[in-house]
Amino acid sequence: MADVRLVNVQKSYGDTHVLRDVNLEVRDGEFMVFVGPSGCGKSTLLRTIAGLEDISGGELSIGGRRGQRGAAGRARHRDGVPELCAVPAHDGLREHGLRPAAGQGAQGRDRQPRWHNAAKILHIEHLLKRKPKELSGGQRQRVAIGRAIVRKPEVFLFDEPLSQPRRRAAREDARTRLPSCTDELKTTMIYVTHDQVEAMTLADRIVVLSAGRIEQVGSPLALYEHPDNLFVAGFIGSPKMNLIGAELVAVVAGEATVKLPDGSLIRARVDATRAKAGDKVTLGIRPEHLGAAEGGSDGNTIDARITFVESLGSSTQAYSHFAGAEDDTLTCQLDGRLRPRQGDAMPLWLPPEACYLFDAQGLAFRRLVQATPAAGLRPAVAA
Ligand code: ADP
Ligand code: MG
Repeated sequence: MADVRLVNVQKSYGDTHVLRDVNLEVRDGEFMVFVGPSGCGKSTLLRTIAGLEDISGGELSIGGRRGQRGAAGRARHRDGVPELCAVPAHDGLREHGLRPAAGQGAQGRDRQPRWHNAAKILHIEHLLKRKPKELSGGQRQRVAIGRAIVRKPEVFLFDEPLSQPRRRAAREDARTRLPSCTDELKTTMIYVTHDQVEAMTLADRIVVLSAGRIEQVGSPLALYEHPDNLFVAGFIGSPKMNLIGAELVAVVAGEATVKLPDGSLIRARVDATRAKAGDKVTLGIRPEHLGAAEGGSDGNTIDARITFVESLGSSTQAYSHFAGAEDDTLTCQLDGRLRPRQGDAMPLWLPPEACYLFDAQGLAFRRLVQATPAAGLRPAVAA
């Protein structure tokens, strides 16, 4: 077990700055997930921690021991402490010389029960006798995860370990099994993914990266409820948060009122006292909180017209035209029993406590709610 600390870490390749001022503390025993769009620097950050890349500036320490350069990273292994175990994105077995068939005999007696336990949880028992070339990409990844777990390192580093299974069901299966393997070990885990659903379901805390910078660090729910900025708001949550350009018209304690492009006035339960009327802002509302409004509701509604409907059974996803929203479209996740039809006019209700608000720089105004209420849906459009 070990904590990982990064202070002002920089990484550049020639003139290309890949990591900028990365400050981060991964706590001992924590499951930390790095998430961000492709090319934002997740793998580079992980490889830096693994000592596989030199850093161009700053400091990095693992378990209180400092290492700055790649050579120092490798030296960490020679010193015997701390052992890092990396499962890279592709073909983990070959890169690390881990052969599943060797899983039977390669480890000492104390590793045997752990290996069998991990193999059982990961559903790879039947694969242990096979050679790597006899395994699918997804199976290899699972074996690599199992092998990593058995080695019981101080820090696990996983780079998109579930990116290989092409079938969604196989990925989801492995994802739900991973926590039961790792919970037992209480080892520090750093896990890279571009998939925010994976991040939300696995992490104790998430680091959201964009263009080599940390946008926000926090628990999955903290990021969902209180994104610091527009980037995090748009990245965390699926389907994506609706964002509408607006103008601030009134600010009172505990509430801001904004005017949308169609002239409708919407109240948001945020502290916008640092801003003033006339300021450009962005209003955010998640698809799951955008409800069909009943007639005679307390305002905070907009008129939208349904352009497309997807019935998913448990939920109905409705897209409606609304000028000023991204792509002039609002996404609305309704109860599966609601089946609005294309072309229907549909008044939508924005619960004030479910609204998010961002200033012209994209920084969030503090929301004055602990948790978004489950409501946000007022069944009105009958199935
Ligand atoms: P991610 O894992 O988030 O998809 P990476 O960490 O692999 O992103 O890459 C981040 C950025 O650094 C990318 O723009 C990539 O092109 C660049 N990069 C990565 N490795 C190198 C390298 N060896 N030389 C030059 N640029 C690199
Ligand atoms: Mg990567």
